[in-house]
Amino acid sequence: MKVAVIGGGVVGLSATVALLRQGVDVHCYEPGEPMGERSAGDTRIFRLAHAYPDMVMLAERSRALFAEWSERAGATFVDEVGTVVSGAEVGAWADAMATAGAAHELVEAGSPLLRLPAGTFAGPALIDPSGGVIRVDRVRAFLVDAVGTRLRRLHVDAIEETGPGVRVTSGTDSNIFDAVLICAGAGTSALAAGVGIDTPSALEHHFRFSFPIRPNAPSPLQCWITQPAGGQLGTYQHVAAPGHWAVGGHIDPELVSWESARQAAEQASLAAVTAYVAEHLPFVEPRPFAQVYCTHNPDLGDGLQFVRCGRVLATYGENLMKFAPLLGETLARAGVDGSTPANAGPHTEAN
Ligand SMILES: Cc1cc2nc3c(=O)[nH]c(=O)nc-3n(C[C@H](O)[C@H](O)[C@H](O)COP(=O)(O)OP(=O)(O)OC[C@H]3O[C@@H](n4cnc5c(N)ncnc54)[C@H](O)[C@@H]3O)c2cc1C
Repeated sequence: MKVAVIGGGVVGLSATVALLRQGVDVHCYEPGEPMGERSAGDTRIFRLAHAYPDMVMLAERSRALFAEWSERAGATFVDEVGTVVSGAEVGAWADAMATAGAAHELVEAGSPLLRLPAGTFAGPALIDPSGGVIRVDRVRAFLVDAVGTRLRRLHVDAIEETGPGVRVTSGTDSNIFDAVLICAGAGTSALAAGVGIDTPSALEHHFRFSFPIRPNAPSPLQCWITQPAGGQLGTYQHVAAPGHWAVGGHIDPELVSWESARQAAEQASLAAVTAYVAEHLPFVEPRPFAQVYCTHNPDLGDGLQFVRCGRVLATYGENLMKFAPLLGETLARAGVDGSTPANAGPHTEAN
């Protein structure tokens, strides 16, 4: 069987590696640096904690597959420092954890179980002890090595169903495949539309900034997600490298809309996140020194979505790094047997 994977982000590379392990003849198309777009940067947050029990259970399966990768690579891919989610809604998240049978604890601000760079904060906190920092730098090295020469440094211009298979065209290069998996991140909707698959196309700018951690901060710091409350910014935060605290914020959509220039969105995001750090994080210096940029589909939220048309399967979602090994296995299976994986999370309508 011959399968094309479009996109060499973490999802496409994971699918390619899973297909190779099944002995499939697979080509992964990626014109830029592998994991250089939405998968860029060296770290992300892993968490079992989600608002939906099915997502918690999928994250548990993904965590087990990260452990399998670790065994194969002889490297740790998740630094298990724990992840904390705080805010008024965490009771519902705790219910989802309980339904899924996942270890968790609900505590108040000030609990000795918390190791955060803040003194106090709004709402109770849910501690997810299995959460932690995903070492994206190591994931990238592992996947790129495993994919090897199956990476084709080409931009796919079009996908077209033909009698014998699906034609994938890139400039003057054209190949026929038995199945195609579209894992092209921001490029997915344009490619998928060509074969009649509808996926979200709206985009916005998103920035994450790094700040120095003060030497007197608790250690090791847990990853932290703060839900928006009373005008306070919703954020996600974690150690990005020793002594570096990464903070991303859910900025007013008007300020980061696709119609805004990237530079204006960057300035608005930087101002909002730095002000948040200055006001709420006494153990972090409000002195940004690095950033990660990506495009983002607004309003998706946590969830995994799959849409099929014939021999072409497209996937999309948000916060996919933590699901990468699971998505790889799931897409590889569906690519080979022609099935459509079940959607998960908030948008679970059937395809
Ligand atoms: C700042 C930031 C913080 C994040 N925090 C978290 C977090 O804490 N936890 C978490 O789990 N996730 C997090 N995420 C989300 C996660 O990183 C992304 O969901 C994930 O990396 C998406 O991977 P992908 O493979 O779908 O997309 P991408 O990495 O964007 O890969 C898609 C690839 O397709 C290629 N492509 C596009 N069009 C074409 C074409 N026509 N032909 C060939 N190739 C094409 C692109 O070049 C790209 O490399 C964060 C993302 C960012 C940017």
